[in-house]
Amino acid sequence: MPLTWQSAVINTEKLEAMSEVEWVDLPGVAHKVPTVYSEAGVVTQRVADAAERAGHVFAVDPTSAEASCIGGNIAMNAGGKKAVLWGTALDNLASWKMVTPQATWLEVVRLDHNLGKIHDVEVARFELRHFDASGKKLQRTERWRSRAASSARKAWARTSPTSSSPACRASRRKAATA
Ligand SMILES: Cc1cc2nc3c(=O)[nH]c(=O)nc-3n(C[C@H](O)[C@H](O)[C@H](O)COP(=O)(O)OP(=O)(O)OC[C@H]3O[C@@H](n4cnc5c(N)ncnc54)[C@H](O)[C@@H]3O)c2cc1C
Repeated sequence: MPLTWQSAVINTEKLEAMSEVEWVDLPGVAHKVPTVYSEAGVVTQRVADAAERAGHVFAVDPTSAEASCIGGNIAMNAGGKKAVLWGTALDNLASWKMVTPQATWLEVVRLDHNLGKIHDVEVARFELRHFDASGKKLQRTERWRSRAASSARKAWARTSPTSSSPACRASRRKAATA
């Protein structure tokens, strides 16, 4: 734990709200998709259990699933044996919301989700929704697209919660279930 000048320690264990599997419309997808709403501190296994209750499989299954959290899975882009079929954490995100270093909110929404591995598509598109510090007032939106599918993972890594550490309060993550 880096107890140095300007370091911060954020405990996410109370960010434990989650939904059961919800069928929702995703932008650019023609049919409803089973998703789970999860805050950053939800233990991975709880999401896997919710998926199973609804007859689905949560693709993210690191061996640490009983101990790891969704926020950490996204930050590390965790996978597991199911990743071979359904991809890793970032492949399975419909949207996520995080705190920026400026203490505002950024919601990233995947457009035209291919419901599979991101590198299987030529272009990956996202809508970036910038909110004020309250998280309620939308300030602006912009669209972003990957230059090529092969570079998408690097770009995602740059925008993941890890690269903006105050995002530990990231609270809204919808993980598509397979
Ligand atoms: C026994 C064991 C087995 C594992 N098996 C696998 C496996 O099979 N497949 C695989 O892919 N990985 C595996 N891993 C690694 C796995 O990716 C991580 O354990 C897990 O994803 C990390 O989640 P965590 O909640 O433990 O995060 P932490 O270890 O708490 O955090 C990991 C990093 O993410 C950051 N972080 C955490 N939460 C947030 C947040 N909300 N916002 C921003 N940053 C955040 C932390 O600062 C840290 O840098 C394993 C690890 C262990 C210990």
